Amino acid sequence: MPRIKSKEEIEVMAVAGAKLARIVERLRKEVSAGVRAGDLDSLAFKLIYESGSEPAFLNYHPLGSKRPFPATLCVSLNDVVVHGVPSRSRVIRPGDLVKLDLGLVYKGFYSDMALTVGVPPISFEIAELIGTTREALEKGITAAKPGATLGDVGAAISEKVRRKGFSVVEALCGHGIGRALHEEPSVLNFGIPGKGDTLREGMVLAIEPMVAAGSGAVILYEDDSYRTKDGSLSAHFEHTVAITARGARILTQA
Ligand code: MG
Repeated sequence: MPRIKSKEEIEVMAVAGAKLARIVERLRKEVSAGVRAGDLDSLAFKLIYESGSEPAFLNYHPLGSKRPFPATLCVSLNDVVVHGVPSRSRVIRPGDLVKLDLGLVYKGFYSDMALTVGVPPISFEIAELIGTTREALEKGITAAKPGATLGDVGAAISEKVRRKGFSVVEALCGHGIGRALHEEPSVLNFGIPGKGDTLREGMVLAIEPMVAAGSGAVILYEDDSYRTKDGSLSAHFEHTVAITARGARILTQA
């Protein structure tokens, strides 16, 4: 059963989310040709501790992974969809599609957020992929209100993606979040309207469409990152949102 958060708990999660949003925005501005992925990770580590919170991903060991995640920040480049390990040696280059995914813990509550940056020059198709994924997240958030179902959320996301000719990465999904990074329910990025669990006030969800320019099939690599099977580019956006009587409230905003 998804855990229901009290109003007080949601206010703590809103503080956590605001801290995270400010850090992610700072990191987004740092993404440019010549910057090392590992330097973004070091900066994320420093900014999280300066904010009075702790990294959520560092040493996190999800079920099925071979080892704990070795970094604070996931930096997933190009065909890597998620869980990219930021390398000390990998320099970001013009044309790279950079996904930043960051989580923190504040007063015992987790917050999770991701975004995608295209390093100029990028093609029209890449700009479309980024814009479509961001808009798919907005559609999913708009659909997430009390009485709606998880199928409504997934369908809103996948319809936007399909219309643009891209594919949802169906093997990966969002999740409930709170005192644990991953709680029930799984928040799929596709679904049938009216089907699945009904959303209730007090649920907090990490909604995170992952979208590929190609087929959407993924492979798990040796380093526990997921890449598209056909090598196509992918984009990812994520917000932590609370279901309130007035609809979804984005907690990961400054
Ligand atoms: Mg997440």
